Amino acid sequence: MDNHNSVSGENRWRDLDKLLVRPGNIVGPNFEPGPQLRDDLQAYAKVLVVGAGGLGCELLKDLALSGFRNLEVIDMDRIEVSNLNRQFLFRLQDVGKPKAEVAAMRVMERVSGVNIVPHFCRIEDKNIEFYGDFNIIALGLDSIEARSYINSVACSFLEYDSDDKPCEETIKPMVDGGTEGFKGHARVILPGITPCFECTIWLFPPQVKFPLCTLAETPRTAAHCIEYAHLIKWNEVHGGKSFDADDPEHMQWVYSEALKRAELFGISGVTYSLTQGVVKNIIPAIASTNAIISAACALEALKIATGFSKSLSNYLTYNGAEGLHTKVTEFWKDNDCLVCGPGVLIEVDSTTSLQKFIDLLREHPTLPISKPSMVHRGKNLYMQAPPILEEMTRSNLQLPLFDLMGRIPKDVIHVTGTVTLNDRKTSALRKLRIVFKGNVDGVADMDMAGGA
Ligand SMILES: [Zn+2]
Repeated sequence: MDNHNSVSGENRWRDLDKLLVRPGNIVGPNFEPGPQLRDDLQAYAKVLVVGAGGLGCELLKDLALSGFRNLEVIDMDRIEVSNLNRQFLFRLQDVGKPKAEVAAMRVMERVSGVNIVPHFCRIEDKNIEFYGDFNIIALGLDSIEARSYINSVACSFLEYDSDDKPCEETIKPMVDGGTEGFKGHARVILPGITPCFECTIWLFPPQVKFPLCTLAETPRTAAHCIEYAHLIKWNEVHGGKSFDADDPEHMQWVYSEALKRAELFGISGVTYSLTQGVVKNIIPAIASTNAIISAACALEALKIATGFSKSLSNYLTYNGAEGLHTKVTEFWKDNDCLVCGPGVLIEVDSTTSLQKFIDLLREHPTLPISKPSMVHRGKNLYMQAPPILEEMTRSNLQLPLFDLMGRIPKDVIHVTGTVTLNDRKTSALRKLRIVFKGNVDGVADMDMAGGA
């Protein structure tokens, strides 16, 4: 009788229902089993998949087959021939088309009832409200910078009560997958409860760079010879001309120089494909690693959405390089985290202009953020871009921040801008708790409590 929303027969949700309609002793808190859970999941749960590459394709398929019906996917890339071995939703005739659009279409064709909205753009192109709309954000990304940005966006929704306890209804859960060759991880991030991406940023060591002296004087491996040709010899010979990794002639030049270097030092193993791999920092992608990690992420999303089991606590690592090894580690939150904590407290004089405040931020000891755009309670205080918004908000720069924030003595503002991460500039979003001092119209301290 329960096949009213089933196209592929009444057994379609048999396995899902085993999880949702039965009680158990590892269920999450407040779990109430019953068929309505599946209906609620399908009607209300809204998941954003960030990335439509190797992991993203898997995630969309897994989430759709797990009963989620309202999915959206965001990815700025177009399909390349080299994606086709593992990004299984794409075909040769799709090369050149946006990944998000093709992935959404393919999963909708195969899984009836699911609706997937694609977004072919950069993650920074969407405003904060866009991200606020989702119950869960699933990350299938390969860059630290993009993870860091999404993490800061998700954490920006988090509010703390007057006892500095996170308000549960403001928690934006994330599940994050990552793979590198035969290794992978899946983690659950509940901002304010489990460590956010920034709390454990040290898990991602900076990219290995060879010391220049090794490259120049004592090369020992084929990779050293390639990096010598790429980083040192190229500049010596070509002066100011910048190296373009996508130009086959440039790559060929580096390859032949690396070969000469390798012969000189009696080193073997320099090939054209290794040259590409080293120069472009390509790590081979393994389809099964993506499948395993995505499965873990989709399961965690389903747990969060329905509570049928306790969540992973909180970081799973998988290693298929030698034998097969999985392990779950519970990492701890950094209570001083700039991203998921209650926000950086900044005291400002009530007469300080917005421009002066921006100058202060640039020199702030723990928060150096440049080119900031600022939002207070959904209202743009100042926007660096697009030009039309910059022009509209420019006159605010001369006004006191206190007035712009509606003369509220203590409140939170969100700042997006640029920070330096691992020597690279990257987009960031920070939450600032502004407290005004000076003449704040005699507002009593007690009215300010929990003012955010
Ligand atoms: Zn954190």
